[in-house]
Amino acid sequence: MTNVVGLTCVICGKTYPADFAGYVCPDHGNEGILDVRYDYDKIGETFTKESLAADPDRTMWRYRPLLPIAPDAAVPPLTVGGTPMYDAAPLAAELGLAKVWVKDEGREPTASLKDRASAMAVVKAQERGAEVVTTASTGNAAAALSGISASVGQRNVIFVPASAPEAKIAQLLAYGSTVALVNGTYGDAFDLCMEASAEYGWYNRNTGYNPFMTEGKKTAGLEILEDLGWEAPDAIFVSVGDGSIIGGVHKAMKDALALGWIDRMPRIFGIQSAGSDYMVQAFENGEDVLTKPPISADTVADSISADLPRDRIKAMAAVTETGGIYLRVSDEEILAAIPTLARGSGVFAEPAGAAPYAGLVTAVERGLVGADDQVVLLATGSGLKDVASALKAVAAIGTTPMRIDPTLDSLRAALNN
Ligand SMILES: *Cc1c(COP(=O)(O)O)cnc(C)c1O
Ligand SMILES: [Zn+2]
Repeated sequence: MTNVVGLTCVICGKTYPADFAGYVCPDHGNEGILDVRYDYDKIGETFTKESLAADPDRTMWRYRPLLPIAPDAAVPPLTVGGTPMYDAAPLAAELGLAKVWVKDEGREPTASLKDRASAMAVVKAQERGAEVVTTASTGNAAAALSGISASVGQRNVIFVPASAPEAKIAQLLAYGSTVALVNGTYGDAFDLCMEASAEYGWYNRNTGYNPFMTEGKKTAGLEILEDLGWEAPDAIFVSVGDGSIIGGVHKAMKDALALGWIDRMPRIFGIQSAGSDYMVQAFENGEDVLTKPPISADTVADSISADLPRDRIKAMAAVTETGGIYLRVSDEEILAAIPTLARGSGVFAEPAGAAPYAGLVTAVERGLVGADDQVVLLATGSGLKDVASALKAVAAIGTTPMRIDPTLDSLRAALNN
């Protein structure tokens, strides 16, 4: 028995039973994403800040009563969650903010936050006895599903655009997934994966379709709050592609508020690349994300490149319901954020992981955050995922190594002393 009381359609509000076997609201098709609802009164009877503090399990499964899995469900052996959050004093000083915290999701087993969702997907797939689990992905969700599946011997089929960064493709192949490199965009890969999973009966992990992915991702938000002693920060900056991570962070805050573990909602800031700014456009123009057509996305930050953010309803609510804002930053600003974040916090992030820092710079310039504010940046993926972009970023700011012979004289000449 889980603590789930039902699954509610984000469009019509109709609620389906906890054991509902579908993925989306039948009345609303693929747009009818379901939100998992819990019995907070029951949860709060035994699951408390104190019981958590006494729990030695540092993984995402420490929040199990708030997850859609049974108390005795087997979970994959890889250590997912429990990532560090650093007090980046140099960045706070540079920007004139009270605190800047950087949560390093590059420390997950496959080096991105997606492990939290994919671990959940594998538990649910095995609960249903699925022979095969599948996903489409820009790369990280795929690598995560691939790695976590490997850890339990779960067969899986992965659809990624052929343009995905090499490191991510290397992970898929090393983990032994069946890999389809699709000649097309992430959107094309997504549509094909949806068709294939219906055709073959594979368990579908797709983002903004499978309702449990947000629940896995929210554990990052719960960790942020727990690390801060259940004092909500003033603002949380999250990069947005499909909008599932930002929806998950919002869900964590709502869970903690419902349990009375925090007493206010932090503002949630959604950051997108100017080349993939569907949510920013919708936010600025007050457009309805249900009817707004796809855009044509193109950005160096491959993990947040989305023509049509699949989880856009939850993603919009995360910002509008918390007094946050959607901000766009240029690819140049995203690249520049990689070395700045690395130098100011020690966290080396891929472009999408550094984008929240670029967003924070913009927010400071526009006076949206200020001297009293404590800000959390969610660094969603490791810089090792996309070394080509990191090299481009350092070249752009003129950082070059010394090229020297293996002698002290040569070193001295290069150092000029
Ligand atoms: C997937 C991903 C994102 C964006 O998450 P969405 O849920 O698609 O908005 C951001 N950063 C990294 C590193 C990712 O892998
Ligand atoms: Zn519906």
